[in-house]
Amino acid sequence: MDNMNNVFKRKVRISGKLVFETAFHIGSGKEGELATDMGVLLDQDDNPVLPGSTLKGNFRSFAERLASYLGLKACLLDSDLSGVDCVSDETYRKRVYENFKKIKQEKKKLEWLEEHVCDVCRLFGSPLQASRIFFSDGALSEWGRTLQVRDGVCIDRDTETARHGAKYDFEVVPRGAEFEITIEIENPEDNELALVGAALAEWENGFRLGGFTSRGLGKVQFTDKKIEETDYTDPEQLKAYLLLHKMSPADSLLDKHLEQFLNGGNHA
Ligand SMILES: [Zn+2]
Repeated sequence: MDNMNNVFKRKVRISGKLVFETAFHIGSGKEGELATDMGVLLDQDDNPVLPGSTLKGNFRSFAERLASYLGLKACLLDSDLSGVDCVSDETYRKRVYENFKKIKQEKKKLEWLEEHVCDVCRLFGSPLQASRIFFSDGALSEWGRTLQVRDGVCIDRDTETARHGAKYDFEVVPRGAEFEITIEIENPEDNELALVGAALAEWENGFRLGGFTSRGLGKVQFTDKKIEETDYTDPEQLKAYLLLHKMSPADSLLDKHLEQFLNGGNHA
């Protein structure tokens, strides 16, 4: 699908900081540096890493939970559960994929996808479409310089009691870590800007990221929001972007569309 709809018309860039109010644990899946059972993800210089894929997954789940308030559809990757047919649901996709394959014209393929993909997957990607929203890895700007170790007790999920003697320990990045991030959106529709605005508001109000959040870890807030855009169809903006690498300030862009959709849709 990469050759479809791929002419740039508009690009929106959101930048800001993620500031951790508590310690956090984004696991490496391996033992830790400090001989703990569960290490955190570190780069080659032993600095903590905040992967863009983790950020995207978290942001997408907020978008899924908020979509219906904006009159948008979210399949939740499960058409039975959500009641929303979408090609991201495997059973539904298998049922309709033969029809899609028969379509020869690119334009008709696009129209078909419009009808068979939910609003969230259209932006965040589906098995038949590339994502149009991109999350950078966090660029570490500040942290406590040493990892900490926390202890845990293995809980039996059935009885909710501690299994006798079953203890483990894990590493955390201490509170106060800060990362700079950017989010870029290609060719966003108005409803997608509203949806991104809503999910971003959740991030600004504070959210939780990583493991052990039920133990109070991973409390983080998005701050220092800056929004810029480039309208490729405006010759001056295109020139500024391509020659000077400058985008136009657009700090109220998301809120403008969010307000419109909260007021009942795109009637303006
Ligand atoms: Zn979907």
